[in-house]
Order: sequence, then structure tokens, then C-alpha cells
Amino acid sequence: MITQPFYLKDKETYLFQKIEQAKKEVKQKNPAIKIWDLGIGDTTIPLCPSVCEAIKKEASKLQDPFGYTGYENTFGRQILREKIGEVIYENHIAADEIFISDGSKCDVARVQHLFDRELPIALQDPVYPAYLGSCHLSGKKKITFLPCTKKNHFTPDLSQLQEPHLIYICSPNNPTGHVLTKKDLENIVFHTLRTGSLLFFDRAYGDFIQDQELPSSIYQIEGAKSCAIESGSFSKSFGFTGIRLGYLIVPKALLYADKSSIHEAWKKIVATLFNGASNLAQAAGLAALEKQAQEYKKNVVRQYLNNSLLLKKSIKKNTFGAEHVPYVWIDLDQESSFAAFSRLLEKGVVTTPGIGFGPSGEGFLRLSGFARTDQCIEASKILSTI
Ligand code: PLP
Repeated sequence: MITQPFYLKDKETYLFQKIEQAKKEVKQKNPAIKIWDLGIGDTTIPLCPSVCEAIKKEASKLQDPFGYTGYENTFGRQILREKIGEVIYENHIAADEIFISDGSKCDVARVQHLFDRELPIALQDPVYPAYLGSCHLSGKKKITFLPCTKKNHFTPDLSQLQEPHLIYICSPNNPTGHVLTKKDLENIVFHTLRTGSLLFFDRAYGDFIQDQELPSSIYQIEGAKSCAIESGSFSKSFGFTGIRLGYLIVPKALLYADKSSIHEAWKKIVATLFNGASNLAQAAGLAALEKQAQEYKKNVVRQYLNNSLLLKKSIKKNTFGAEHVPYVWIDLDQESSFAAFSRLLEKGVVTTPGIGFGPSGEGFLRLSGFARTDQCIEASKILSTI
């Protein structure tokens, strides 16, 4: 019989699977209960009509013998790579450094293949759980948590990392809602370059930033092209959680210690593990970057942020976030995050226990403002009693 690899022996399930299970159990116990789901950050506002039109048009081409397309460029349609470079990066990133994908989470997983198991990893704590999960699944053993707490204003301290690390930075941050300033990111890039490390910068919530002074991309920081990969997603601001579209920026300047190219290594990995994003999703992505859809997106962003501000206002406890990302991070004043999660679930409000995002998330709960506004209004009535 073949042996199970050590990294699959951990029987912990993914955080949001656990929450779904808890939801089901409460429903079974009390079938009449009304559930207001502020748990997983899934989008609820419909797509921009012009994006839907683009999908329909692309779909009808597929029934035409002359319009049909099968496999396309594994790295993404050239026109979409160029459009992302132009619209999101104001032409500061070349199209061939942009790799179109089926979403940021999939890139988070595939990126692991760039590194050997011995590479030390540094993670903000708390943070999006897929980073830690994918590190575990690929056998990474040396993992350092960088606590991001009230005390340090949710800003990671990298000074303890002296050897080269793969450092994950998510800003605006899921779950704390904190956005790192230009100065913070300059310090991080400086540290990364000084120690020969590599940054994985996640801008999944970059479109939600409301203050032009706060960077939404690591490449707004000098030197970042020599030390950072950046992941982007169409999921949250464009509503593509179901359509699935993202991208990874892998600059050509990125090198391994032996001077070989990380960019070339990434091409090899993508060509081996992936067959390109769906042609429907890519047509949708192109339409989403047109002016009309960009205006629509601004409204969507405003609505989600308004939802999270409404939730925030209803809570009498100390809260963070909601300004530049639709998550509210509630300080529970010593109560354990699973106890508060269960207590609220019994009342019909689904939240996410902070501990699920890392040890420093204990004592916090996350609320998602991506829920429908009517759901947020109902949930806020219950939240005002906690
Ligand atoms: N990155 C962060 C920080 C997220 O919070 C999420 C989803 O919640 C993702 C990436 C996943 O994005 P995608 O839907 O593109 O896979």
C-alpha cells in the first residue's frame, strides 16, 4: 500500500467548511430559524449588464463553427493581459508579466510549486486561511506567524526574519480590514530586498480602498518589481466569485539565488498545471474593465462598504475595518471567538470566528458586508444586542 504524505495527515478541515457544517446543525435543530449569513465573503450584487452581454456574445460564438474556440493561450488572452496592464496598472506592468487565472485562491495554491519545502514562510496573523492551508498541503514546515494586533495597529513586524522567507502580505487585509500605508509597504519592500526574500502580495480587495494615498498594489512601491509577486482577483469588486477570474503578476526581474528566472519557472508551472482560464470568464473580464462597467463597479464597492458600515454602527463593542474593505473585525473583550460565533449562530447570525484566521484572531469575530443589504439590516438588529 502507498503511504499517505505527512502533510495530509492533519485532519483539520478548511474554515468555511466548518462554518457550513455548524450552520446545517443549527438548521436541523431549529428548522424555523431565519439565518442571516455574514460568514464567508461571498458576493451578492448582480453583475453589470454589459458584462453579462459579453458572456452571452462569447457563448453564442461557441455554437458557430467559425467562432468556436477551444484551448487558448494558457497564460491568458493577450487582449485581456494588455487591458489589465492598462486599466489596473496604468501601463506600469507589461502584458507578458500578467498571467490570467481561474481566481486568486488557485494561484495561491499553484505558487507553492515555485518553492522547495525547506523555504521558510512568514504569514500575517490573522490572515486569509488559504495561505497557511496551501503551505501545509505542499509540505512547508517552517512557518512563522507575524502577529497583527491592536497593539501594533495590525502592522506586521518583519524584523525577526533574518534569512530569506516567502512573506505573504494581504492589504487591505482579510479579516482585520486594515490597510497598510505607503510607508509600511516601503519598509516591507526594503526588508524583503535586504534579506533576499520574496513577497506574495494579495490585492484581492484593492478596489475597495477609498483613500488615494493608500497603495492598492505593491508595485506602487519602488523596488517591488525585484522582490514581489502580486495576486489579483475579479471576485470581490466585479462579482466574479462564481465566474472565476484572477491574475498573477510575476515580474521578469524576479530571480532565484542562482540567478535563474522565477518568471520562467512560473511559465513552466502554469503550462504544466493549468489549461487557461475559461474563454467565457475572459470575455467577461475584458468587459468588466471597460468604462461603463468600471462605473458600475464603483457603485458596487460603495454598497458593500455601506453594508459593513451599517453592521459596524450596530455593534456596541470595539470594532475595526469596514472603511476600505467590507469586513468588520469585532473585538470580543476576552470572549473566545468560537463561543461568540456559536452564541450568534443560535440567534441566526452567521459570522466567522477570528481564530480561524490565525492564533492572533482569537478574541475577534469577522462580519462580511458582502451579504445582501436586507440581510445586513436584519442581522444588525441582532448584533446590536451583543
Ligand atoms: N485572497 C483573499 C485575501 C481573499 O479573501 C480571497 C477570498 O475570500 C481570495 C484571495 C480568493 O479569491 P478568488 O475568488 O479570486 O479565488
